[in-house]
Amino acid sequence: MAASNTTAAEARTVDPSMLEGSMRERVNQLRKEVCGLFEACSDSNAVHQMSLVDTLQHLSIDHLFQEQIDATLRSIHGCGGFSSLHEVALRFRLLRTHGLWVSPVYYEQDLSRARTMLTKVFALMTVVDDTFDDHATLDESRKLAEAIRRWDDSAVSMLPEYLRKFYLRLLRNFEVFEDELQPNERYRVAYTREAFQMTSESYLQESEWFHHNCKPSFKEHVKVSTVSIGPQTVATAMLMGMGDETTRDAFEWALRGDTVMIFGRIARFLNDIASFNSGKSKKDVATSVECYMNEYNVTREVAMR
Ligand SMILES: [Mg+2]
Repeated sequence: MAASNTTAAEARTVDPSMLEGSMRERVNQLRKEVCGLFEACSDSNAVHQMSLVDTLQHLSIDHLFQEQIDATLRSIHGCGGFSSLHEVALRFRLLRTHGLWVSPVYYEQDLSRARTMLTKVFALMTVVDDTFDDHATLDESRKLAEAIRRWDDSAVSMLPEYLRKFYLRLLRNFEVFEDELQPNERYRVAYTREAFQMTSESYLQESEWFHHNCKPSFKEHVKVSTVSIGPQTVATAMLMGMGDETTRDAFEWALRGDTVMIFGRIARFLNDIASFNSGKSKKDVATSVECYMNEYNVTREVAMR
């Protein structure tokens, strides 16, 4: 009896550093097991590899396996042979989430200026998207959209403390783009800025829907979510750092042309089909698939046809 009491008392007073040590050991063990899964998958087909990356993303532990995920994405980048719409959509979403969906355009050495600018704009846009989706209250989202609309240092005072540094950095980055361009190329930055502002407005509209628990009509959803997937921002940012062959007409095409919007619409549908199949996160606004199902009272299979 005395012995068992001692054991219980010892258990209650167990050294926290020992607990921490054993947890760390367990984490390392699990990490090794996941690395083993990647190795086992590397010789199998691309769909298995994509499913593994998708699962890690859903568990929010993908950042622990960046090296393995990068290698997987490189291997699926050029491969085709997907047999279902779900597989095509999943591949698209993974490549898009990891910022690879447009970068292959830029492998040539002499496009390094364009590549750097696109990467920066893409990163800035991702931070704004994540802020609207996961961090800001509706009131903060409205303030952030208003500050991006005003695009002026003085707008910083309307923002909550945690967004101020980022906002000023956003403005500085666009000033640096101007500095890096030739005087006759500087008009390009205004196009990219306008596209960025349009995308921010679409993020705000989606936040309004989310916070008011509103499922818009399919048509209204597509109108907004085609912009929120960022085709104009990506297209103008891609062109911004390119050479003399880039004209003002190209920017008009990128910002207001039908082709870019059609690309955006396809990207949105592929993204939403993949999100819907994998189970979207709680804080996401209703997808176009759900809006279609809701409006026309049809099953997911019909909506995805
Ligand atoms: Mg979003």
